[in-house]
Amino acid sequence: MRWLVLAALLAAVGTPADAVAQPLPAREVEQMRIVFPDSVQQGAMVLGKVPAGSRVSYDGRDLRVTGYGTVVFGIGRDATGPARVTVTPPGAPPRTVEIAVTPRDWPLQRVDGVPPATVDPPPEVAERIRREQARGAAARVDDTPRTGFAQHFIQPVEGRISGRFGRARVYNGKPGSPHSGMDIAAPRGTAIRAPADGVVTLAEPDLYITGGTVLIDHGHGIGSNFLHLSRLDVATGDEVKQGQVIGAVGATGRATGPHLHWGMTWFDVRIDPQLVLARAAGSPVPGTRVVVPPRAGAGERIRIVAPPGSRVAFAGAQAIVPAAGELELEAPAATGEAELVVERPGTSRLVFRIAID
Ligand SMILES: [Zn+2]
Repeated sequence: MRWLVLAALLAAVGTPADAVAQPLPAREVEQMRIVFPDSVQQGAMVLGKVPAGSRVSYDGRDLRVTGYGTVVFGIGRDATGPARVTVTPPGAPPRTVEIAVTPRDWPLQRVDGVPPATVDPPPEVAERIRREQARGAAARVDDTPRTGFAQHFIQPVEGRISGRFGRARVYNGKPGSPHSGMDIAAPRGTAIRAPADGVVTLAEPDLYITGGTVLIDHGHGIGSNFLHLSRLDVATGDEVKQGQVIGAVGATGRATGPHLHWGMTWFDVRIDPQLVLARAAGSPVPGTRVVVPPRAGAGERIRIVAPPGSRVAFAGAQAIVPAAGELELEAPAATGEAELVVERPGTSRLVFRIAID
């Protein structure tokens, strides 16, 4: 994912006035080293950098900040954004950073041939399922100082992606919840490796819906869950290192064949492991990136990057970004500060303040 020093990626229009601190001159924000991605997709894990010792809050929750100033949070499948993060550096007033959230499509997926008793559980197991789900939920809401979440995640099993995060699902013709993770098809017995460091918070060989189940806490509210395992190689409380074998692929619980279901969460928000892997691979998320220079000389031509079809308003002129995804614009002749507005198709509006000198 392309990172952009949040020079002036502030103040998306339509924000309640009390939620937004005064935008800062670009120089000052750069010195403050407040860095977040310019936009993210639904289901993303968002990593940010803030000055060490800052207080950071998002969505009503104070985020734990590492000694290096790293913070993390998750964007839900149905979040519409913009995501607002309030950063209060030591001895400085609070700033609000706004991050656009790009909507995604969630096509329907039909899953047939699922064991009927896992789609319509008999009444006598309802209590068991409730109890197991409560234990799973309790095991994944910790806020711990572990920092595995900041590693470059690896895919726990190689194989064909047989199910994607977020898709609405119909099991044996009956509508179910959206798919909460990614499915990787692999032969029964294939080793499953921890995608990042953490501690095992739950290891159960035989839960009714999820079968052999392992939960790992990667720190700061980020967790992984691994379902349908045929074998468990870890126990609750075990420390695991990235790449360590934690169990083996199976088809236990509600499954049609051997595969690993890998889910990720930020507290109770489900996030998309494939986006976490894409970020680790350094691949930009296509179609969402906006790059605007923080400053320009008076009357100079500047180049911006934005998704094709975006509307851009700058210095009294309007333009549409062409298919190449780049646009040249002329900065105003007067020095000072100029506003550049980017409206991307189907997403929130971004307002940049460019220093003209
Ligand atoms: Zn699955």
